[in-house]
Amino acid sequence: MLLQHFYDVIGIFMLYNLYLVSITYLFFQVKPNKYSFRNSSEPYTMFVDMNSFFASCEQQDNYYLRNRPVGVCVYTGKYGCVISPSIEAKKHGIKTGMRLNEAMELCPELVPVETHPDRYRSYHVKIMNVLRKYSQEVTPKSIDEAVIDFNSYKFIYKDLKPVALKIKNDIRSEVGDWLKCSIGIAPNSFLAKLASELEKPDGLTVINEQNIDTILEKLSLTDLPGISKGMETRFVRAGIKTPLDIRYASPQKLKEACKSIVGIHWHYRLNFVEADFVNETYKSMSVMRQLSKEQRSHQETLHNLLLSFCMKLEGRMVRSDVHCQHVYTHISYENGTQWKDNYKLATPLQDGIDLLHIIKHRMNAFEKKHSIPSLLNAATTAIGIVVSDFISSQCVQYSLFYDREKKDELRKTIYKIKDKYGNQKIKKASEITDEPTFKDAIGFGSVKDLHIDSD
Ligand SMILES: [Mg+2]
Repeated sequence: MLLQHFYDVIGIFMLYNLYLVSITYLFFQVKPNKYSFRNSSEPYTMFVDMNSFFASCEQQDNYYLRNRPVGVCVYTGKYGCVISPSIEAKKHGIKTGMRLNEAMELCPELVPVETHPDRYRSYHVKIMNVLRKYSQEVTPKSIDEAVIDFNSYKFIYKDLKPVALKIKNDIRSEVGDWLKCSIGIAPNSFLAKLASELEKPDGLTVINEQNIDTILEKLSLTDLPGISKGMETRFVRAGIKTPLDIRYASPQKLKEACKSIVGIHWHYRLNFVEADFVNETYKSMSVMRQLSKEQRSHQETLHNLLLSFCMKLEGRMVRSDVHCQHVYTHISYENGTQWKDNYKLATPLQDGIDLLHIIKHRMNAFEKKHSIPSLLNAATTAIGIVVSDFISSQCVQYSLFYDREKKDELRKTIYKIKDKYGNQKIKKASEITDEPTFKDAIGFGSVKDLHIDSD
């Protein structure tokens, strides 16, 4: 009984984490940046939402589970929570967050299955790769959702509907025949998300200037993603009772209703202005790790860690097709002091080993100049590297660097092999160490790193 409670608490904790992730995304979405507030009424933003993602991944990998009501749970004991009901389970009324005992009562044939996070991450990576075949501007919003910006592809795609059908087909044929998604197409990411929610599973809905009013007319305020009961009360108090009211209210009125700038964002969202979509190109990439006493006591471990950091950053830059022009290294010590090194690169860089050489060279120069022993020593509590000031790899002037093009091509090929067969299958000779690799150097906090850490 005590054990059950223990698992119960763990289950709730995991679910809470899931909510935290969604809240983070929501927060992220409302944060405008310089790319925001693009105004175009043409439907060139797509939102892809995988249906019952975790449960579908389980059904994909276990044929027995197909066509059955499945409930993916962190813990499959009596009070475990269903965190992802399959499409079939939803038809029986099983909802996310339901306790297993309640769920089984409602649907005795429900098959509870424990979660397999690695499985979901690996499918996420494959799905994102499919989306990137159609547009380079793919922003994962969570493990089972992504926004694709097609605004730069207007000359290639006259209509996004056939593209959406191709994406659905590619996911089925290249990733998993059991995986379905709902796709929304609209002039901005908010309306595209809304469109993706209108038809489930396997939906495809377009919201445009012609049909938006008819669509909003059928919805209540809380049907709009991001409008909670509390927010609904605020709107209603200000006389705004429906989504159509929001669309036609003045920005000022909405601002007053929400008592913040958020009100104006609501005006934008329903009037085709892009207020949410942050073009999530990397401004910087960083790796940082706190070190245990054991780790910092060996020089070799510290140097291997630095190497693994550089290779992590290389992987991320290759996959984002960028070179960096700025490197920042920081080392923290037990006594609270820090060594920091900011360095503007003379030539844009992507290669991890080159990056390591530069960092080591600068550390050595500092040690020599100040006559100190190694900067990496037993008092080191944390090491971090940040690369930034990116430039698209295509813009790097190859002609200036005689063997560079071949090296860059080779690096790209290595990562293609890594992506296909696993990170550990191919390595540069200089990457091979006797130490166990620092696989966890980058956290899973953001889905944009999943393609690196998933294998
Ligand atoms: Mg989903």
